Amino acid sequence: MKPYKKYRDLVGNTPIIDLTHLAEDVHEDVQILAKCEFTNPGYSVKDRIVAHIFDKAEEEGRLRPGSRVLAASSGNTGAAVAMMAAWRGYKAFIVTSPKCSQEKMDAIRAYGAELVVAGSYMAEAEKMAEEDPDLFDVDQYANPLNPEAHYHSLGPEIWDQTKGAVTHFTCGASTGGTICGVSKYLKEQKGEVEVVMADPVGSVFYEYFRTGCLGEARPFHVEGVGKAGIPKVMDFELVDDVIQVSDQEAVETCRKLAQDDGLMVGGSSGLNVYSALKLARRQKEPATIVTVLVDSGLKYISKIYNDDWVAENVYQHTCK
Ligand code: PMP
Repeated sequence: MKPYKKYRDLVGNTPIIDLTHLAEDVHEDVQILAKCEFTNPGYSVKDRIVAHIFDKAEEEGRLRPGSRVLAASSGNTGAAVAMMAAWRGYKAFIVTSPKCSQEKMDAIRAYGAELVVAGSYMAEAEKMAEEDPDLFDVDQYANPLNPEAHYHSLGPEIWDQTKGAVTHFTCGASTGGTICGVSKYLKEQKGEVEVVMADPVGSVFYEYFRTGCLGEARPFHVEGVGKAGIPKVMDFELVDDVIQVSDQEAVETCRKLAQDDGLMVGGSSGLNVYSALKLARRQKEPATIVTVLVDSGLKYISKIYNDDWVAENVYQHTCK
């Protein structure tokens, strides 16, 4: 019989697409490319890290069918954990924040996981892990396997798909796993690759990168990126610059992508594309700028694709 793949075998090897047509006033040899991470089985980039963390733990005998797993998550890691727990026969407990979209919360429950919603969701998960040592904590904010997953998969895919032509990589960060893992791999191949973080206005990363001081976080609505503190996994040595993007810029970019290109992605993908366009305008020489379409817009229909919600909720911050 012909060996067909299972759904679970479809993590990674995502398509890369050309978004250069979105750029205006740029050098004629500047190209903008984006990895379609929403084509992963759980519709986000986070499938890569959860597959890697679970594979390693199974190899080491720390996870087996019947195990119980825990993840603090803004929603995508939680969905990936819940989905892969269903495949592998674990029971998943996910802790997320009230900011998480209804669609992401519903998806986590649909995969059969138990969902806890808590204001201090990272602290709540830490408490649950302390109280129950049998729970396997994915711990994406401190787990070195998070950036390592991207070092072994997303980074090499970008290098191969651009045939080494990539000159810039830009994306937002929460744990920092994506940006740090990809940066490490690309810089090892070609030291001059420039890595630029896209940071929501209100997150502390921008100021921390410029001054080394931890400023005060302000509210913003784009989900899954930006932070009020610096996670352990985040290594600013691997970041060359930070571009700030407002809620409005990110959401408008999402809506433009949906309405002009039929490409419906989440808010952090809008933030990433906005950052790539800004970076493109800065280039005086040929460049290949790569970014990430992190997750599907279907996870945010009730938010960024809803006019009433946007009018009431999107912060009209301006960038510095
Ligand atoms: N965008 C979205 C929608 C996310 O869920 C996440 C992860 N929280 C990111 C971007 C940032 O990825 P990372 O944690 O690898 O920095």
